[in-house]
This record gives sequence, C-alpha cells and structure tokens, in this order.
Amino acid sequence: MLIKIGITAIVAFAAVVSCKENFVMNTWSGVFEDATAEAYRTLANGGSALDGVENGCRICETEQCDTSVGYGNHPDTRSHTSLDAMIMDGDNFDVGSVGFIRKYRNAITLARYVMVYTSQTLLVGEGAEEFAQMVGFSEDSATTSNTVSVYDAWRDANCQPNFYENIPAATSQCGPYHIDPLPSSAVAKDSWQVNSTTVRVSGVGLRGGNEKLWAANREDHDTIGMITIDSNGSLACGTSTNGANHKIAGRVGDSPITGAGCYADTTVGGCAATGDGDVMMRFLPAFYAVTLMESGQSPTQASQAAIRRIAKVFPTFSGAVVCVNTDLFHGGASNNMSFSYSYASDSSDGVQVVTVAE
Ligand code: ASP
Repeated sequence: MLIKIGITAIVAFAAVVSCKENFVMNTWSGVFEDATAEAYRTLANGGSALDGVENGCRICETEQCDTSVGYGNHPDTRSHTSLDAMIMDGDNFDVGSVGFIRKYRNAITLARYVMVYTSQTLLVGEGAEEFAQMVGFSEDSATTSNTVSVYDAWRDANCQPNFYENIPAATSQCGPYHIDPLPSSAVAKDSWQVNSTTVRVSGVGLRGGNEKLWAANREDHDTIGMITIDSNGSLACGTSTNGANHKIAGRVGDSPITGAGCYADTTVGGCAATGDGDVMMRFLPAFYAVTLMESGQSPTQASQAAIRRIAKVFPTFSGAVVCVNTDLFHGGASNNMSFSYSYASDSSDGVQVVTVAE
C-alpha cells in the first residue's frame, strides 16, 4: 500500500512539473510561415495551444495568405467573399466553427467565441453574423474591390469555370440556370469503375472531383490548417479559409467541419487538411488519420492512408493532410499537388519546411 501511494505521488508530481516541447505545424509553407512563427511565439511566451492556433491563423487572415485565407478574394457566384473557420480543443473535444461569414474578417476568433460563449458547434451565415455582433465584433465586410474585380473577370469569361454539374447551360454561360427536366446524366449510376475495381454500387448522384478547378491554379485554394501543442502537452487545431474561388453562394467547405478540416486529441495527436473540400469532407480525413495514429500508425502513415482512402474513389482530387503525434513526430501526404508544410518547435531552428512526396 505504501509503495502504491509512493508511486502515485511521484507520477502526480511528474505531471505537474513536466514541461513538454512547444510545437506548431501548418498545412503550407511560403507566405504561411509567418503564421507558424506567430503561433510558435505565442506558445513560447506561455500561451495555450488554443491561443497559438488563434494567433497563428489570424496572421494569415490579416496577411491574406496566398489570396486563400482572409478577406478580399475568391468571390462566390454573387461576387462576395465569405469565410469559414474552426478551432478545436484537444483536451476536451470542444469545437467552435463558423461558415459563410461575409460581414467580418477575423473568422478564427469568431470560431473561438462560438466555442467559448455557446454550447453549440457550428454557426453559419446571418445567424453567425448576428452572434458576432452580439459578442462585440465590429462589422467589416470580407468583400473588397479586389473581390469584385476577380468576380467581374469571371463574369466576362461567361462564368467559367464553375462548380455546377449536370446543367448544360452552365458549361458556357452565366446563370440563372433552369433545371427542367432532370437530365439523364444526373441519374445515379449503378456502379463506378476505378482502376478496374467497382468502388460503389447504387446510391444517388455519384459525383466526380472538381479536379479541373482545383488542379488548374494552386492559388484558387489553400486553407491554413494548424495544429499546436503547448508546454502542458495540450493539443489544439484550427482552420481558416475563404474557400474555393467562384464557389456557389452559400457553399461552406470542409474547413469548419470537425474531423474534415482538422481534428485534435491531446492523448493522440492532431491532423489538418487542405484541398478540394467538397470531396474531402465526405471522408473526414483528419479524424480518420487521428484514429489511425491512435491505433499505432505514424503521422506519415496515417496521412498517407487518409489520402489513399479518398484517392481510391476520387483518383484525381487535389488535397493534402498533415499530422503530428504526442511524441512530436510529424508528417503529411498529398494527392495531385506538390505540397510543403511548415513547422516550428523548441528544438527546431526557427520555422522549418517539409516537402511531401506526392
Ligand atoms: N479546403 C478548402 C475548401 O474547400 C480550400 C483549400 O484548402 O484549398 O474550402
């Protein structure tokens, strides 16, 4: 009995004094490295994993990383910029998410407010904007003259490319479109062959990836997806994006969806995703990869398996996943795009970049 008490006491003491390494990773490098550096600075100054995610993602929102995060880019079909973001606390699985935010620019902080000041998880559109006003955000449109000029150029190109499917008129002209009658091409196929394997039988509306839109121009997309580990060993993750260029108004992507955009479990690790969210969210790749790490796979193996699972069905989709485990091993995998992520830790020499083989 005495020995038992002694061991418990030592373990408890160790838990109090143990100081783990601060760690940050984010889905991209280049202009996204400022976000990694800011998140790391936050942690090194004693901030929590959640503070690191919020401050890091906010930098990208302010700097409009790659035109894909923050205000003033990627107009939707109504000429507006709209923002999606999420933050997740890996200690208790608390999540705050926002989608289709047009009147505010700091989506990651709004997501954190949803987490802290509501018992709900995802607020979108007007309701989310009302909430932002209630918690004291000052209105500041995400749409700018740049958004409108990108939109105007797209309209001048007959609204090509776009994300409509099975609407013949949409392949050559702007809307509004009329769907009457339902074209036979929209009717479900019985099965679908991928590499001579039948991957699905029955179901409605089997849709391909948006490969042409996503592969064409890297700058048409790029979410910041971040994972942080603080010196207490707590994990958090977050995402922020203005989504896909020329998305259909009202579209919310994968980034604010728990397990799709990112997932964090302090006892296992965290993962974040970027890429064709309309395809990727159907597979919850971040959740899947964390689950694989829980069953013993390394971050690289888990990332590869999560990407493989999507590519088996949508071989041409563009996207990537990055993961880190509690031992601070990290890795990533991508499909159909060249991809480098950035990280920083107490033992790295500043922000480092890892290029992931496709
Ligand atoms: N996943 C984001 C979205 O679909 C965009 C991106 O990461 O490139 O909204």
